[in-house]
Amino acid sequence: METQDKEQEWKHNSVISDIWFYIRFYKKHEPFVLVFGGMEIIFGAVLPLFMIYLPKIAIDLVERGEAPGKAFLTLGGFGLFTMLICGAKKGVEAGKYNLYNTQRTNLIGMVFLKSLRLRYADQESGENKKLHWKVYDAVWGGDWSSVSLMVQGTVDLCVNVLCFLLYSSVLVFLSVPMLAILLALALFHYKMNMSHIRYEESLRGQRALARKHFQCVENAMGDVNGAKDIRIYGMKEWMTGLRDQTIGELRKLSEQSKKKDAFYERAGDALAAARNLGAYAYLLYQTQAGGVSAGEFVLYFGAITGFSAFVNNTMSALATLRGAANGTDHIRAYLDLPEENRKEGSGRIDQISFPPEITFCHVGFSYQNAEEGDKPVFRDLNLTIRAGERLAIVGVNGAGKTTLVKLLCGMIEPDEGRILINGIDRNEFPREEWYRLFSIVFQETLILPFTVGENLAMDRAERVDEARAWKALEQAGLKQTFQKRGIHMRSYMTKTMAGDGIELSGGQKQRFLLARALYKNAPVMVLDEPTAALDPIAESRVYDQYNQYTRGKTAVFISHRLASTKFSDRIILLADGKIAETGTHEELMRAGGDYARMFEVQSSYYRKHFDGEEAVGETED
Ligand code: ADP
Repeated sequence: METQDKEQEWKHNSVISDIWFYIRFYKKHEPFVLVFGGMEIIFGAVLPLFMIYLPKIAIDLVERGEAPGKAFLTLGGFGLFTMLICGAKKGVEAGKYNLYNTQRTNLIGMVFLKSLRLRYADQESGENKKLHWKVYDAVWGGDWSSVSLMVQGTVDLCVNVLCFLLYSSVLVFLSVPMLAILLALALFHYKMNMSHIRYEESLRGQRALARKHFQCVENAMGDVNGAKDIRIYGMKEWMTGLRDQTIGELRKLSEQSKKKDAFYERAGDALAAARNLGAYAYLLYQTQAGGVSAGEFVLYFGAITGFSAFVNNTMSALATLRGAANGTDHIRAYLDLPEENRKEGSGRIDQISFPPEITFCHVGFSYQNAEEGDKPVFRDLNLTIRAGERLAIVGVNGAGKTTLVKLLCGMIEPDEGRILINGIDRNEFPREEWYRLFSIVFQETLILPFTVGENLAMDRAERVDEARAWKALEQAGLKQTFQKRGIHMRSYMTKTMAGDGIELSGGQKQRFLLARALYKNAPVMVLDEPTAALDPIAESRVYDQYNQYTRGKTAVFISHRLASTKFSDRIILLADGKIAETGTHEELMRAGGDYARMFEVQSSYYRKHFDGEEAVGETED
């Protein structure tokens, strides 16, 4: 798949630094994860040692000719103690698992709250958006999430390193030179595995990209919304071709790494076999020479065998940690993103007089665009939306209408100039207080798979004011439709959570969003193309009621349909980052500028296509 896409590398921390990050995190939020983890490490390291000592003790007892009762008691006691440790290990493992999973969900919450503390513009920008998804990947994936793998990998690493040391301390009594050789071989094995891990890591970028391509194709193939296009445009061959291509990319990478895996695995096995055979031979030699008793023989034999296993386990724990550290780097990079300067809640916004007057004073704004450079959308924009005024904003695609709304409601900040409310700089108010001023219908929809009431109030079900919700639905022209279909406040929207959930048509969705804005009943109402998906009759109904539901509010209406502007007190036409024309509909028509020309084109089209036609569609009343 040809693509310009490159994966941005975020700050790379060492594994130790990432482990330290989690230690601090758990110390702060759930220290018992550390306590249980520490206990698991101790039990996990001590148990294998007991296991290799048990046969030695048994043989020693037999060799010394101990009374059967005493031998039974010694072995029984030892066995019981081992069982107790085993049980305790399982207990702390389960405890740690539950606690760190709870904290993983806590981390998901922290990431969500962090996203709200970022400037909206930073969240919207391409790289941060990608980082956001990577972070969700790192925290959401259950036992395979980076957060879980880091905890398990750290415990495994510590257990195996500790076992390695404990077994070394046993083998030191067999022979110091032999132990030195074993350690040197283990070091060589470690180096070899590290070069294997590094090779795997060198493929990570390519693999992430190939997986992303595969996911894009997979999503497109599985998306029910795309099923219509796939059929109508005969995309079957193209899609299956893309699938084969993306699977091919992944398979090629996987085969590439499998060859290396096989090489390193065989080399590791050969090394382990040589190490073990040498050590066993030495042990046999010592035993025959009489330097080692039968009990010691089984002890050392177990230690040599275990030594190999711990070397291998240490390597795989390291590989797990290195892989998981990548996700942790993303989490840390995200949590470190600079946050917006926030003011404490002052409640002052409630003290200003409503409906408010909003002024744009010499406002300049550009989107940060890495590829094309910053392109100014506005330069020196001056605009006063008077208290209680109904303002319409028109302009061709890309003229900056939506950007103006984002500036107005505080999603983005001007690069130059100020935005004032009743003469006070809006930076005087905390962002959340500012948001309370606006009821907005955005073009993009967010309908959650929860109840109608929750979706209207955007709040918990028990806090929904049903009377207010029905009134909003009525004003938006949806009440009758809902009542006819037996939809109530506790009906589920979409079929995600409930099989009988409500699916709305495009136009109904738009009216539902209007109802949501009406429910909020904020002093400033902003409608960004609220009728784009409505049929002409439903659209004219929205216009007819516009005066009614914007009464006592400052209102901004953005629309391509110039008929809507007739209901506004004033119209501004945006062009080239400036207000090109301003006035009432009549004034602008008389002026005969771009607005008049656009209006003429549209009304002649409407006259041609809709005059004399019967009202059709899903309009109420
Ligand atoms: P309108 O709503 O009038 O169609 P917009 O306000 O959406 O126009 O866009 C104004 C200009 O800003 C356009 O040139 C558009 O390509 C650009 N633009 C809009 N959103 C972004 C964004 N998030 N990043 C970069 N450029 C953007």
